[in-house]
Amino acid sequence: MKILLHICCAPCSIYPLTVLDRQGLSVMGYFYRHNIHPYTECLKRQETLKTYADHMGLRVIYQEGYDMEAFIRKMVFREANRCNVCYHERLVAAARVAKKGKFDCFTTTLLYSKFQNHNMIAATGEAAGKDAGVPFHYHDFREGWKEGIAASKRLDMYRQQYCGCIYSEKERFYKPQQRSG
Ligand code: SF4
Repeated sequence: MKILLHICCAPCSIYPLTVLDRQGLSVMGYFYRHNIHPYTECLKRQETLKTYADHMGLRVIYQEGYDMEAFIRKMVFREANRCNVCYHERLVAAARVAKKGKFDCFTTTLLYSKFQNHNMIAATGEAAGKDAGVPFHYHDFREGWKEGIAASKRLDMYRQQYCGCIYSEKERFYKPQQRSG
């Protein structure tokens, strides 16, 4: 069985890859780029994945282009709900690639994160799979959260400090000054 794994970043792919391998699936990766800002950060995450994929003998499809503008246009006035829109964009794209590439199913490393809306990702993946005509392969990869982090540290892998978009970068680093007195 051939599975397409949407990969948000190399560290999050470590544990899902071990599970899918254990399940006897033949995996190809798919790296989506439009939600990772700025472009230099996107390249850094892509390079990290390339190095890891080479190390693992994993083939990866890297999304072409970098349509940050279209991504941001979709988020405007939906900032509070932006992650759901973002899951939808990424999983619809992954489902279409899986269908076109004649994969038996697809899944995502987003199901590994403890910081994402897991149920929303699972529901969005199911719906995207139904629309595209390719099954979504659900697994709760969060069970391997600690194992994946430990492995990424052992490999001295670049580990980003924010989710991906400019909004998440601001949330991570912008600390409004406290008024004293
Ligand atoms: S915080 Fe992460 S999941 Fe949410 S919109 Fe930004 S990149 Fe997407």
